[in-house]
Amino acid sequence: MELKIYHMYPDLLNLYGDRGNIIVFERRLKWRGIKADIVNFTRDDEKDLEDADIIFLGGGSDREQEILYSHLFKFRSLLKDMVEDGACILAVCGGYQLLGRYYLDAYGNKIEGLSILDFYTRAEKGRLIGNILIESNLPLKTKTIVGFENHGGRTYHDYEPLGRVMKGFGNNGKDEKEGLVYKNLIGTYLHGPILSKNPHLADYIIKKALERKYKKEINLPELNDCEEMLAHERVKKKILREGKL
Ligand code: GLN
Repeated sequence: MELKIYHMYPDLLNLYGDRGNIIVFERRLKWRGIKADIVNFTRDDEKDLEDADIIFLGGGSDREQEILYSHLFKFRSLLKDMVEDGACILAVCGGYQLLGRYYLDAYGNKIEGLSILDFYTRAEKGRLIGNILIESNLPLKTKTIVGFENHGGRTYHDYEPLGRVMKGFGNNGKDEKEGLVYKNLIGTYLHGPILSKNPHLADYIIKKALERKYKKEINLPELNDCEEMLAHERVKKKILREGKL
């Protein structure tokens, strides 16, 4: 088996080690004897995204989001169709914000979004920074997800969240929702990179991608996740001790 993973704009959407998510996908596939074909997608590319099994968008600053928007816009309707068709997308922070209708930055500038989904983001006073712990409703082996967030934008939507905020801020620091899940698209504010300390989330995405591609139920062989889960538990304990920022 094989999965094609598109790493979108690694030169621009590259905050807080988000590239590590690609490494996690690659390794977890390799350890199971599954080939990972990683494609770096940049503004010089007119490649077709259609053959992507997983699309990853990392976090980026307002400036970077604005720079790449016009390039990414060309793929808007294709991406929308792919999302409807169950393609797996993981979008973090700036990448997540780009999938909505718009982002009003701290200076009142409107950065258009791709409108793949019907939500918006606006900058409000102060940034939401710190470690975060959420509890997810997805059928994950472990319900909790840990990470780090640093964003000025507040996102508001009526979709299923990725999880309920136990500590930290999440989408907007008010409604206790973190991220978004729509079909196999996951948007989140969690850096870290998110998948390194949450291998259960990485496997959830890998399983979905394989099932879509091979049109059958896939049961992934277990891996030894002692180290990863130890890191997960340590961060969880630390966050619970720290309390809300
Ligand atoms: N530019 C966005 C914000 O500050 C996203 C930042 C990020 O990706 N960490 O809200």
